[in-house]
Amino acid sequence: MTPRVVIAFGSNLGDRAETIVAAAREIADLPGIELTALSSLHETPALKPHGVDFAAPAYLNAIAIVETDLDPHELLARLREIEQQHGRVREERWGDRTLDLDIIDADGMAVTTDDLTLPHPRAHERAFVLEPWLEVDPEAVLSGRRVSDLLAEAPR
Ligand code: ATP
Ligand code: CA
Ligand code: CA
Repeated sequence: MTPRVVIAFGSNLGDRAETIVAAAREIADLPGIELTALSSLHETPALKPHGVDFAAPAYLNAIAIVETDLDPHELLARLREIEQQHGRVREERWGDRTLDLDIIDADGMAVTTDDLTLPHPRAHERAFVLEPWLEVDPEAVLSGRRVSDLLAEAPR
């Protein structure tokens, strides 16, 4: 069976919805990838290292499920290219951005390298990841825990 990979989208600058929909199409068009589900867009206040920042532009977040044999590092490289095509500029940690693409989980595969950690180390506590994920997969599991349970425990 082809591995199932969960990808999270976030955008809080520019035409957020247009960017996310375009990025989803670009991911679907990548060779060796089949997009099998895309959540609706969920609006969330910005999270900064010091906490929720209601003064910063709010995010739209979404989740896509893809099936791919691509190595996760290879997939991350493709996702970075798509971020850059949408004008992503890397500045301060968790700074405002046109597009953020994170790999949340790749069929439970554990990866710990300098540039890639799987499952995504903060996804389990992020309602803005868990909620759209549940929408497209009510039975979803992350690191052996039901995503519905993780969402119930996640800070709001
Ligand atoms: P967070 O990771 O807390 O969501 P962020 O998405 O704002 O923060 P970025 O600046 O986009 O962080 O990425 C920082 C680095 O995280 C990237 O250069 C990338 O190599 C690394 N990284 C590690 N694991 C992952 C992953 N699972 N998905 C995407 N990037 C990852
Ligand atoms: Ca992120
Ligand atoms: Ca990121």
